[in-house]
Amino acid sequence: MADPVLQICDLAYQWSGRSAFSVAVADLTIAKGESVLLLGESGSGKSTLLSLICGTILPDTGTVSIAGTNISAMGGGARDRFRAEQIGVIFQQFNLLPFGSVADNILLPLRFAPKRRKRAGDAADAATNLCSALGLPAGTMDAKATALSVGQQQRVAVARALIGHPPLIIADEPTSALDADSQAAFLDLLFAQMASHDTSLLMVSHDPRLGERFDRVIRMEDVAQIERATA
Ligand code: ADP
Ligand code: MG
Repeated sequence: MADPVLQICDLAYQWSGRSAFSVAVADLTIAKGESVLLLGESGSGKSTLLSLICGTILPDTGTVSIAGTNISAMGGGARDRFRAEQIGVIFQQFNLLPFGSVADNILLPLRFAPKRRKRAGDAADAATNLCSALGLPAGTMDAKATALSVGQQQRVAVARALIGHPPLIIADEPTSALDADSQAAFLDLLFAQMASHDTSLLMVSHDPRLGERFDRVIRMEDVAQIERATA
């Protein structure tokens, strides 16, 4: 079988400082093309786990492998480049560059990822095509990202994650600010874009109603052991 897109083995991590929150994941695998919804209550360590998967924080023990490469063994610079190549990230607050245009924001991940840039072909055309597929008017490409509505900013965040077809998309509660209809429309757009490239998705939510759209639903309490300091 081809390498899974994500493989976590015997991972443990503890936040340093006062919070003393720790998370351990013995085994978690996501196959190529698979969509997985990770459910868990607020404060259960979902965002911490996504940071470990993206390699923005490193496990104390154990390994995180992306497309067969153990990112835990990489140095910081190499890990940043690898993340840019392999992972499209949709943050909870979108994290758009406030002074950048829509086009600047969408093209940003390609700047540090030559292979992904190559896969995107003509980058400006790719950004325009994604915008039209996601229902962003062509005239918005030069607008300041923060001048857009929340729904439009969310589409920009999706386009930025998808450009250049990274094999794995990580999304941290991207629909938490939306009503049910907008949530469904958001997932329609995301899944339609992913299907054409066999992209894998790990999305975090606290809304179990989204589960039927995904290949697999996992719960934080089933995949992870967490411990909090008893204050
Ligand atoms: P969730 O995303 O499920 O709401 P988080 O992973 O954000 O949960 O947080 C889980 C716990 O991890 C928090 O309650 C806090 O104790 C600790 N934590 C999260 N981020 C940090 C941080 N940057 N520094 C120290 N502790 C943190
Ligand atoms: Mg969170």
